[in-house]
Amino acid sequence: MDIYSSDRIMKIRKAHLDTVHFFADLEENHFIIEDNDILPDSLMRENCDLLKELYTGSYVAQKDRGKIINLYERILQGTKEPIYMDELEAQFSIMNRDGQHVFVSVLCYVDTNCEGLITAYVGLLKPLRKKELENKEILDSFSNDKNPSIFINRIAKFQAANPDRKYAYIQFDIRKFRYINEKYGSDVGDDILRYISETLDVMCDKEHLHCRLTADLYEIVTYFNSREEILEFIEMLDARLHRYGDIRFSMSYGISIAPGTSTAYRKHGDEAGLARVQSKSAILNKAVFYEDTLMDNVKRAGAIEEVEEEALKNGEFHVYLQPKYSYDKCRAKIVGAEALVRWIDKDGNYKSPEEFIPVFEKNGFILKLDYFMWESICKLLRKWLDEGKEPLPISVNISRSYLQKIDIVQYIKNLIEQYQIPIELFQLEITETTESTETLEYINKFKAAGFVLMMDDFGSGYSSLSMLKDTPFDVLKMDRFFLDECLDSEQGKTIVSHVISMTNDLGLNIVAEGVETRDMADFLYDNGCAVSQGYYFSKPVSVEEFEKLRDGETEQSTYTG
Ligand code: C2E
Ligand code: MG
Ligand code: MG
Repeated sequence: MDIYSSDRIMKIRKAHLDTVHFFADLEENHFIIEDNDILPDSLMRENCDLLKELYTGSYVAQKDRGKIINLYERILQGTKEPIYMDELEAQFSIMNRDGQHVFVSVLCYVDTNCEGLITAYVGLLKPLRKKELENKEILDSFSNDKNPSIFINRIAKFQAANPDRKYAYIQFDIRKFRYINEKYGSDVGDDILRYISETLDVMCDKEHLHCRLTADLYEIVTYFNSREEILEFIEMLDARLHRYGDIRFSMSYGISIAPGTSTAYRKHGDEAGLARVQSKSAILNKAVFYEDTLMDNVKRAGAIEEVEEEALKNGEFHVYLQPKYSYDKCRAKIVGAEALVRWIDKDGNYKSPEEFIPVFEKNGFILKLDYFMWESICKLLRKWLDEGKEPLPISVNISRSYLQKIDIVQYIKNLIEQYQIPIELFQLEITETTESTETLEYINKFKAAGFVLMMDDFGSGYSSLSMLKDTPFDVLKMDRFFLDECLDSEQGKTIVSHVISMTNDLGLNIVAEGVETRDMADFLYDNGCAVSQGYYFSKPVSVEEFEKLRDGETEQSTYTG
């Protein structure tokens, strides 16, 4: 075969004019290197197999030898075993004509026969420019010979060797890696990544392939016998990886399982990635297995995103209010409300906030929705004030997803000034976390502006009582799941009772969320929690219904007094 004249190879040559081309016809044992002023003369002799020379000689810098070995072995072995991609790539430094080491990228497009075996290839050797070099060197210096594009080929070979086994694709990354980079500097960030790669080199034996895909994202492929075995491996890995010197961090792991016969390597990696993202919202569960429901969720989120703008324009979002009650076992009196959004589509179907709020928080639409909610609440409070009704404070939910990104303090201040709403009537609920000092600064800004601040979902995450001592919050809202769980045991009840008394001692107010039974309401009252919110008193209701409840025109749904 005349490899020069093949159409495909002509096209490749045209598309890469700034590179050194080299050709190999493995069936004929015929090799050519195009004229160039990069490679040393010793490589420019007739019928020189460039890759073999780089592989066997001393042209490649010692630290990069693994990369050329990998590339060349893929090509060699590809002549015995089928390979599943038609590109092989590696970056490493070689000695040039002047005896200097220059960083190059070598890409081989291969021709395979009908059995998938390599018969010929055209290679492109391209010196990397300074800018490319900066990126590539950083990437490759961590991953040695485990370049992502080669990784797929290695997986193929790995699985082909044991097609009867089951394989786990494990993907992981560092939670809040950006924050670590910002706090400790990117040099330390780089050190951490290097440390992870080295740890993987040590921990992964011939049963585990591993690769750094990008940034702080890694993938391991291994065969296994049981799920427990995978989880044990992750435990072991995690025990080594969770700290670097004094810096502690945590990982998110996603796992996808595939039969050895499957060649959808990228798809399994993507599935593991989806599970990894899912594991970020699971506080106790750092490793999540991919299931088809995860893909269903992605599709559902896509469907929500498609119609969100239209829904807002068509008035499908409604303000609902859930009353907050002061309760003393004999009497329950409405003392305020929480504004909660409800989405009722044009066909009258109801979507739960649990379903769409997380999607909006991810894609940023939440801000538009909240602008709508805040303005609606301002209009409502204005109406109550104009009607001469006793104005009850309403709390709105502030999402952390936009908290640091834009100056909503000024935005909300302008809004309440425009509608002339006394600031104590427009209250803010912000979910508790121990997060960064930036968020705290932001919350302090609200405080300085005079807003009443409520810490939402206290007890649901990483909260600790000690963090309450410097908190800018005025009110603590006890999470309904926390409360539910605690009230199941005597020990739990003691915790709740102490949380309430400590909050009171600190001069903060406390509201219990998700109060569903009289027993719960009574327990909370007996222990000093003055305000409760939950289905026992009232579900979130439309504004009209809320006004009726407030004016005593309707009985509460479950509250019997
Ligand atoms: P959240 O702020 O903690 O709101 C309380 C949630 O608990 C509401 O769910 C409410 O309907 C529910 N709930 C109240 N009492 C009970 C009870 O006795 N039993 C049970 N099982 N549930 C009760 P909802 O309305 O589904 O909202 C879920 C979350 O979505 C809210 O949690 C809040 O974080 C977010 N959210 C809702 N509306 C908005 C909004 O307009 N903007 C933003 N940014 N987030 C919102
Ligand atoms: Mg809330
Ligand atoms: Mg809450």
